[in-house]
Amino acid sequence: MSNEQIDRAVAKAKDTDVVEVGRGLLPDSGRVIADGLLRQGKPAMLVADGNTWDAAGAAVERSSREAGADLVEPLIYPAKPTLYAAYERAEEVRDRLRETGSLGVAIGSGTLNDIVKLASGELDQPYAVVGTAASMDGYSGFGAPMTRDGIKITMPCPAPKVVVFDVEVAAGAPTAMAASGYGDLSAKIPAGADWILADAAGVDPIDPLAWELVQSGVREALSRPAELAAGVPDAFEGLCSGLVLSGLAMQVAQGTRPASGAEHYFSHLWELDHLGADQDPPLSHGFKVAIGTLAMTAFYEAFLRRDLSRVDLDAVVDRWPSWEQVAADINATMTGPLIQKGLNETKEKYVDAAGLRVRLGRLRDAWSDIRPRLDQQLMPARELQRMLGEAGAPTRPEDIGLTADDVRQTFPRAMYYRSRYTVLDVARELGWFDEIVTEMFAPGGLWS
Ligand SMILES: [Zn+2]
Repeated sequence: MSNEQIDRAVAKAKDTDVVEVGRGLLPDSGRVIADGLLRQGKPAMLVADGNTWDAAGAAVERSSREAGADLVEPLIYPAKPTLYAAYERAEEVRDRLRETGSLGVAIGSGTLNDIVKLASGELDQPYAVVGTAASMDGYSGFGAPMTRDGIKITMPCPAPKVVVFDVEVAAGAPTAMAASGYGDLSAKIPAGADWILADAAGVDPIDPLAWELVQSGVREALSRPAELAAGVPDAFEGLCSGLVLSGLAMQVAQGTRPASGAEHYFSHLWELDHLGADQDPPLSHGFKVAIGTLAMTAFYEAFLRRDLSRVDLDAVVDRWPSWEQVAADINATMTGPLIQKGLNETKEKYVDAAGLRVRLGRLRDAWSDIRPRLDQQLMPARELQRMLGEAGAPTRPEDIGLTADDVRQTFPRAMYYRSRYTVLDVARELGWFDEIVTEMFAPGGLWS
């Protein structure tokens, strides 16, 4: 089922030509890499750390030699301290690739993949990745989140040409890694709801193939959290495929909309605040996303307790603030460089009163069709909270070093952070935003 979808995704993906996800793939990984990456006769350089070398690198090296691949000396970073996605690391890998005239093969999860991806992108040459943990959906995506000059940005670079992901290796990785991937995959629930709303409002049409690639397997992939925590390989197949499909869907749609909505902005903002950066390993992307996902799922519950079909559009449009008023609020809500970013991003989705009437009119008039789609897409926040807990992912703000009030204060920042239109914007345009956030954190709420 998912392999068939992976084939369809690869056929449409911009950068990726070969994806192998399954059990027991390592002994054949060298042939896959040789056929898919090394056809022009260049040698390969494996890039790993001490952990991923033991988990997969040595086996990939052996298999590559058996497949007749030409290998240069591998670059193996120490297992400790944990490798950071710093630009200097990517430069280091880039220089080694250039000096040796080789193509990069990343052996690892997030950071190692990002470093080799960026290094290869700067040399304008393809690379391969052999995944070692089901920790995030960036394996098969483009772009590399990187710290450069002290700030974290996503640097543009193509996705891998070849992806090999042995499910048994992922099942043997530390349990926190799959819990993180589970958190990242759970985001597809509220993110899909955001896309439904943006599509219905006429802001951001749904790309049917990208939608299907991400959404069709999510429920199943999330259905076995306890078995993931126990390292049962069968349970990893859905998670690994789901994460790979999510990255491929971003290639198909040429953007991140299929895989992320407002829940990811909570994570990005906390990342900019360096939340958990001093832990070793640092607080993972998927753990921050898990709390953002629960926050957005609870927001949706409160949002859907209201009846959009009965909204008084005249009154809503009368109350709609001018751009100057919005800009003043952004200045009061955001801090530092995020003020300018918030102004630029929010301006893109801001409409005047006439535009607001059209946009919200579309949602109101079609609400009897939209509402059941949202109900089908979403799941109760408490159920998702239980599942995240069984997977070993965070379920409360305190689990990632925040208070409920910190999360509450992130809501308006998440709304202003990106131009992407989400339920946060719909609620604000309807005049519901503040009361929904208050309601969520009142007694009886998810985290009160
Ligand atoms: Zn993510």
